[in-house]
Amino acid sequence: MPDDVGFLERWLAGRDEPCPVCGQNLRDLRGSVCPECGSEIALTVTSDRLRPGPWLLGFASFALGLGFDAVAAILLTIPLILFRNQGGGPPMQVFLVLFTLVTCAAASGGGMWAMLRKRSAWRRMPPRAQRTLAAVIFIGVGLAHAAAGALCVYWMT
Ligand SMILES: [Zn+2]
Repeated sequence: MPDDVGFLERWLAGRDEPCPVCGQNLRDLRGSVCPECGSEIALTVTSDRLRPGPWLLGFASFALGLGFDAVAAILLTIPLILFRNQGGGPPMQVFLVLFTLVTCAAASGGGMWAMLRKRSAWRRMPPRAQRTLAAVIFIGVGLAHAAAGALCVYWMT
C-alpha cells in the first residue's frame, strides 16, 4: 500500500535501522526495497513474546526424546521378531525396557501435541516465563530419559 511506504519512509528518515535480512543500514530509505539485498521492507507491529526460540527449544526437546525412544524401541523390537521362533523366548526384562521406551515416547509425543495445541497460550506468557518453561522442559525431558535409561540398565544387568 502506498500509505505504508509513506509511513516506512517517514520512520526511516534520519533513523538508523538495519535491514532485517542483510543488516544494511536503511536510514533515509526511499521506497520499500532494501538497496543492498533487494528485500521488501515493511513496518509491522510485533511483540517480544513472539520470539520462536523458547517454544522451539521446548518442542525440540520433546521431539528429540520421541526420536530417541522410537529408534531404541525399533532396535529392541527387531531381534524380538527375528528370533521369535527360538526356544525359551526373550527375558521379561526386554519387555520392561520396551514398555519404558513406549511410555517415554508417548509422554514426549503428548508433550509435542500439547505444545502445538497450547501455542497461543504459550505466546501470551511473558518472554522470561517462556524461557523458564522451555528450560524446564529441556531439563525435564533429559532427566526423565536419564532416569528411564538407568532403570533399563538396572533391569538388564
Ligand atoms: Zn537488505
